[in-house]
Amino acid sequence: MLTIAPKDMGWIEVICGPMFSGKSEELIRRLRRAEIAKQNVAIFKPLIDDRYATSHIVSHSAQRLPSISVSSTAEILEKARDAQVVGIDEAQFFDTDLVDVCQQLADRGKRVIVAGLDQDYRGKPFEPIPQLLAVAEYITKTLAICVRCGNPAGRTQRLSKDAERVIVGAADLYEARCRFCHTVYDDEGE
Ligand code: ADP
Ligand code: ZN
Repeated sequence: MLTIAPKDMGWIEVICGPMFSGKSEELIRRLRRAEIAKQNVAIFKPLIDDRYATSHIVSHSAQRLPSISVSSTAEILEKARDAQVVGIDEAQFFDTDLVDVCQQLADRGKRVIVAGLDQDYRGKPFEPIPQLLAVAEYITKTLAICVRCGNPAGRTQRLSKDAERVIVGAADLYEARCRFCHTVYDDEGE
């Protein structure tokens, strides 16, 4: 990915894809390696995401790293002041202010790594990830495995018929599906 590593400047990396595609695993892998390199790492997640530990980012495969839960993007700016590397998980739960915050952090010379859903449960672009993709230097799209047919899965299937955009849940509420197997109940009048 990084063929020529940036020198004396910051940048933005985005890791996006559906649920269960390994975004958190990949974020944790990159942040662990930065810690091994003795870089000052600050890790954030939104307060809304309390599915597992409130003090860690956690993958579905139970890997974890200590993190700070924040209720606003302004808090990230403030608490990342001394960090060389900034990790942000579950970015879809922040508002579009996150784009400006990531830009400011990168402008200050930091490596910013953001992971989040790129589509909502209907398969529609999920802010602020599309906007972050536009301004990022490096982009990784992760795919899961469709639980119906085994194909690469880019979508997140909601298993309930609720129509709110944000409902926090894991394997009990969502599963990975390919575009063929993905359905949106209310679009079909079911
Ligand atoms: P994300 O952050 O994208 O939701 P995680 O990094 O938390 O993904 O979890 C990825 C892990 O989820 C995989 O390594 C695998 O162990 C598990 N997993 C469960 N269901 C699936 C699936 N349908 N496709 C791929 N991985 C899955
Ligand atoms: Zn499928």
